[in-house]
Amino acid sequence: MELIDGNQIAADIIAELKASVAALPGRKPCIALVRVGEDPASISYVTKKQKTSAEIGIESRLILPPVTITQDALFALIDGLNTDPTVDGILVQSPLPKGMNEVAVFRRIAAHKDVDGFHVLNLGKLAQEDTTGFTACTPAGIMELLKRSGVKLAGKHVVVLGRSLIVGKPVALLAMARTEWANATVTVCHSQTANLPAITRQADVLIAAIGKAEFVTADMVKPGAVVIDVGMNRVPDASKKSGFRLTGDVHFPTVSPLCSKITPVPGGVGPMTVALLMTNTVKAHRQNSASAR
Ligand code: NAP
Repeated sequence: MELIDGNQIAADIIAELKASVAALPGRKPCIALVRVGEDPASISYVTKKQKTSAEIGIESRLILPPVTITQDALFALIDGLNTDPTVDGILVQSPLPKGMNEVAVFRRIAAHKDVDGFHVLNLGKLAQEDTTGFTACTPAGIMELLKRSGVKLAGKHVVVLGRSLIVGKPVALLAMARTEWANATVTVCHSQTANLPAITRQADVLIAAIGKAEFVTADMVKPGAVVIDVGMNRVPDASKKSGFRLTGDVHFPTVSPLCSKITPVPGGVGPMTVALLMTNTVKAHRQNSASAR
C-alpha cells in the first residue's frame, strides 16, 4: 500500500506557483477572502488560505462581515469586489449562516473572479470541457493528486460516493472528461443508491465524499483499489486538546491494507483544495490582466 502524500504534492504545487508569481511583472495576484461569522472550522480554513497566499506572494484581503449581515448587504459587498480592478479572485467561505441562499451567493460573484468554481458559467464550462473556466478546488485537487501519483483513469471504473455540487458532481465530470489523465467510466452513488457495497466493490478508484465518519469499510473495497478519502469529519475525542479528532469517510485501519494507494486524513485531499484555490487565483490574475490590455 502506498500513501498518497497530499501535503507533499500540495507543497510542490505551491512552490511552482511561488516561482511563477515571482516572475510576474507589475501587480501581484489578489484574492478577497470573505468569512461571515465565527464558525471555528471556517476560521481555520480561511487562516490556512491567508497563510498559503502569503507564502506564494499572492495578496489576500480578509473581509469579516458579522453573522448578522443580510443577504442584500452581502450581495452589495460582493458587487464592490466584482468591480474592484485590484481583486482577481473572490472566495466566500461556506457554510454561510442559516437562512442565506448559498447558491445565490455563488452566482453573485462575477464568473471571471469565481476562483471557487461554483458559478453557473464555470460549472457549464466544466460540463463543456472548456478550460477557460474555473474548476472547483477540491475536485480539481483530487484529479491533480491522482495525476501526480501516476494514476491514469482511462479504462478504469471510478465510483464517486456523494453527489454534492462542491465535490461529487464536479469530480465525476472531471473523471469522465476527454482529457489525458481522465477518460474514466464513472458511477455516482448517493443516499438513495441500492446495494452500495456491491457497486463500490467494482471501483478501481473509489472517491468517498459523503461526510460520514469511517463509513467505507473493508467489505466495500476491491483489493488493489485506489481510494481517495475526501471526508473531513470532526469526531469528539476527549484525549485531544481541541476536544475532537479529524477523520475521513473511510475506515483507514481496515481499508488501507487492501489498497494499492490511499489518501490519509488529514494530509490527503485537504491541502490540495487550498493549493488549487491558489492555482485558480493565479489563473484569474493572468486572464484578468490579459483582458485589461
Ligand atoms: P454533502 O453536500 O453533505 O453531500 C454528501 C453526499 O453524500 C450527498 O450526495 C449524499 O446523498 C451522500 N450521502 C450521504 N449519506 C450517504 C449514505 N449513507 N450513502 C450514500 N451516500 C450518502 O457533503 P460534501 O460537501 O460533498 O462533503 C463531503 C465530505 O467531504 C464532508 O466530510 C466534507 O467535510 C468533506 N470535504 C472536504 C474537503 C476537503 O478539502 N478535504 C472539501 C469539501 C468537502 P444525497 O445527495 O442523496 O443527500
